[in-house]
Amino acid sequence: MSKINVLRLFKKIVDLRAFLKHQTAIGFVPTMGALHRGHLSLIAKSKQENALTVCSIFVNPKQFNNADDFTKYPITIDKDIQLLEQAGCDVLFLPDVAEIYPNEEENQRPALDFGFIGETLEGAMRPGHFEGVALVVERLIRIVEPTKMYLGLKDYQQVLIIKKMVELKGLSLDIISCPTFRESDGLAMSSRNTRLNSQTREEALILSKVLFWMRDHIHSMNRETLIQEAKEKINQFPSIKLEYLEVRNADNLQFVEENRAKEQDCVILIAAWAGDVRLIDNVLVAKQ
Ligand code: AMP
Repeated sequence: MSKINVLRLFKKIVDLRAFLKHQTAIGFVPTMGALHRGHLSLIAKSKQENALTVCSIFVNPKQFNNADDFTKYPITIDKDIQLLEQAGCDVLFLPDVAEIYPNEEENQRPALDFGFIGETLEGAMRPGHFEGVALVVERLIRIVEPTKMYLGLKDYQQVLIIKKMVELKGLSLDIISCPTFRESDGLAMSSRNTRLNSQTREEALILSKVLFWMRDHIHSMNRETLIQEAKEKINQFPSIKLEYLEVRNADNLQFVEENRAKEQDCVILIAAWAGDVRLIDNVLVAKQ
């Protein structure tokens, strides 16, 4: 007989805790909603590996360094609930801001020191972003107490930051990083993609195309030429404005010299605006 899943919805920590108290093997997928198949791939993985899967939807105001990005962040909660039901998710935690940040004083805690991985790339472009991410994810972990937490490699630097936060805070859980789920044409799925119009959606495809092209040529081309040709490809698209395009060490995001790229796992990371929508993507290049 097939198991029938009922999605239980909790808005209050106390109610969620009461339900989770006797559960073991909890898989946790934290999200900001506007769910797509990328999120659902994390839910599917958690369902394979745990007795119970909890998804949270919380658009965390503290991780938005840009007020416009926060107010325009897509909210599709009814559809999200439907998708979670179809995916067989067990629990949705849907707190409001006061539930997660009840006490302003407590929120003024000194920021964690993430060192270089916190300062570079997204850390440099979005001041305060990772502090906000680390704060909310720590809170959610302490509330849900998961055995395993599922994160997408789409947000590559975020995975490194959360792993570091978990280590610095001495939290005990496994972090499972999951591959980036893409549209059939290659565009990395993102909640922000819904804000693209037909032109910017078409032009945004250059991000993944350039990443795949660089991955395929990184060991055969001179680095300067590689980056220059990649930038030329991007510049052909009028609505795309590049912020960064970098080859970094996959473990610590340090710069990788051209003659050292074969010896270490690398990640190529890109951030660009497609019209007024900021997108990020990356690809891994395994050492040879
Ligand atoms: P978000 O709702 O954007 O905060 O994302 C919630 C989680 O889903 C994060 O761990 C993301 O890295 C992950 N995620 C977002 N997009 C994708 C994708 N295209 N493929 C895999 N995971 C993703």
